[in-house]
Amino acid sequence: MKVTALLGPPGAGKGTLAAALAECADYAVFVTGDVLRAEIASGSELGSKVRADVESGRLVADEVILALVKSFLARNPGGVLFDGFPRTLDQAQGLRQALGNGDELKVIYLDTSQETILARLTARRVCPQCGRIYNLHFRPPQDGTTCDDCKVELIQRVDDTAEVIKHRCNTYLEQTSPLIEYFSDELCKVNGNLSGEEVLEILRGEFCQG
Ligand code: AMP
Repeated sequence: MKVTALLGPPGAGKGTLAAALAECADYAVFVTGDVLRAEIASGSELGSKVRADVESGRLVADEVILALVKSFLARNPGGVLFDGFPRTLDQAQGLRQALGNGDELKVIYLDTSQETILARLTARRVCPQCGRIYNLHFRPPQDGTTCDDCKVELIQRVDDTAEVIKHRCNTYLEQTSPLIEYFSDELCKVNGNLSGEEVLEILRGEFCQG
């Protein structure tokens, strides 16, 4: 099995890159944040368990995340792209244990400055229907407020406020950034300050088919 994980701070462009890679190769994409937000929106037991963590920018417990990940791996033996996982050393170790000898793991690290992160996240808007990501400055919707495809009003994520962004960045620095060293053998480092199109061009040869 081929497994690719996207690593980088909030606002590094992981979501945009995951969507682009899913179009150019046959990845089953697992976006942990989207899965958790869908659980919250559906009012499930899991959703109510993780709601406070997700909305305040704290990490959800490793056991919860690893159970979701293992179930997804078992259902998708062909190849998986993770956006937002792993985010702690325990999750990274859990991923390694879940993979067999013949499995191939690659980690794309989007190295991104603090200025880029803030500029992207405060202006980020998302389509609540299809999940497409916009930016009011760099990638605005055609009419300024609604999704180009679905025509529904774009929303701002509740955790994209300046205060929660700061908390999420601190969480990233403390808990996730050590994974850059942990995955040094599997790491493909890219400049996350570049545009989504530029990042995709750099990665296309290695991560897209054909
Ligand atoms: P994201 O959309 O990737 O920014 O994730 C939004 C929120 O979901 C995070 O701030 C966490 O609360 C939670 N979350 C997403 N992925 C993980 C993970 N791998 N481990 C723990 N919590 C996560």
